[in-house]
Amino acid sequence: MLFAVISFNLNAQNNLNLETKNQEHTTYAIKNINVIPMTENNRLIENASIVIQNNIIQSINDSIPANAKIINGKDKWLIPGLIDMHVHNLASSTPFVLYPTKGPLINFDTQDLMSLYIANGVTSVFELSARPEHIGQRNEIKRGDVIGPRIALAALIDAENANMTATNPADGRQAVRIAKGEQYEFIKVYSKLNEETFKAIIDEAQQQNMKVVGHIPGVFEGQPAKDFFIPHFGLIAHAEELSKQTNEYTYEKAQEFARLAKENGTWLIPNLSNMESIIKQAQSLENIQKLPGFKYVHPLMQSKWITSNSHYGASDELIEYFQKQADFHKLLVKAFKENEVPMLAGTDAGISGIIWGFSLHDELKLLVEAGLTNEEALASATRLGAEWLEIEDKMGTIETGKFADLILLDENPLENISNTSKISGVFVDGQWIDKNKIDAMLTDVEKWNEANKESFDWKELLNSLKN
Ligand SMILES: [Zn+2]
Repeated sequence: MLFAVISFNLNAQNNLNLETKNQEHTTYAIKNINVIPMTENNRLIENASIVIQNNIIQSINDSIPANAKIINGKDKWLIPGLIDMHVHNLASSTPFVLYPTKGPLINFDTQDLMSLYIANGVTSVFELSARPEHIGQRNEIKRGDVIGPRIALAALIDAENANMTATNPADGRQAVRIAKGEQYEFIKVYSKLNEETFKAIIDEAQQQNMKVVGHIPGVFEGQPAKDFFIPHFGLIAHAEELSKQTNEYTYEKAQEFARLAKENGTWLIPNLSNMESIIKQAQSLENIQKLPGFKYVHPLMQSKWITSNSHYGASDELIEYFQKQADFHKLLVKAFKENEVPMLAGTDAGISGIIWGFSLHDELKLLVEAGLTNEEALASATRLGAEWLEIEDKMGTIETGKFADLILLDENPLENISNTSKISGVFVDGQWIDKNKIDAMLTDVEKWNEANKESFDWKELLNSLKN
């Protein structure tokens, strides 16, 4: 079936230019469905009919076209497709060799990765270390060769070991302009930048109409927090960036960070699931192997996460430190909420133990444990993500005229956030993927992994690179 996929693309005015390859579509109507629109007032629409035409939500509670394919929504719940605001997608590459000095040594099947997102209702992702290969992946989805989420791309700039490096302000500015020219929409700043270069990158990004997400460089450790909270540093990629800046893990400190974030318009991706996972991995590798999504992880990554796990075997002291950080991250969520700083759900999917698609449901649960309401947690993975990406006129809520990126749930997630994983079907850009198709997609991945696991050994690959 042909279907349209729209990507994120910024034009010179910083409006999202939505490219569409609109072709044949089936018209669908979901009947008798409880709609959780996730608009700001979020008034539940009970027993509604929704018409989906040409990848757009055509109407809510209006007439149903005669040719519409009917989906029975009785006793089910409809929410907007979820957005993971911090991912690292597997894309064909050569480990540790930076593009483009060598061609890819390993080719990944894009569908096998994207199926994990779709099966989990993740219909948009923010790639925070974008390379040319990710533009290629996005094109595969746009062409309709792969069923996958919308992908926003941030180019990463660091002082070393990155595809784009800068050690002085002039090079930093140039890196931003190159990223813009290569059509990345966002800039990610990273840990080893010096203070002047970090600030120059952020300033140049503002001039180029590119928003900035990222880490807080290590050089700021020990300096007052007002030095790194600056306007146009728009989004912190993990709460850990803040816990690394201090050893005062108090609510007062969390409040100070939150107030500065508020003043500077800096939003936060708490990324609580990452630290929880690190603690579990430090204690036992079985904690990874028994994850429900583990069998769907590419065998090379399964091998890497088990044979070269960088957290496993950490000392008791280190685990205790991780636990203190994890506790402080929950205080940060409380303080940011109290100061009305928006927080976005993001998981760091792709790093060891964090499985694409599956991880977002873990993150939502942890955000609720940390003090968000179920509705606030859902907003962090829908409307607010769309707002930060400046595509809120097209996605993030269920309203007429928006993209048909939707999840049909068996139970109400406003009653229990873990109901987000009770998925009965997903609309991705107007294409209906029912539970049977989801199961078939996952089975494909599992079968391929099972049949090919002997061919992927992380340590062997490392040895072959040395020769
Ligand atoms: Zn990351």
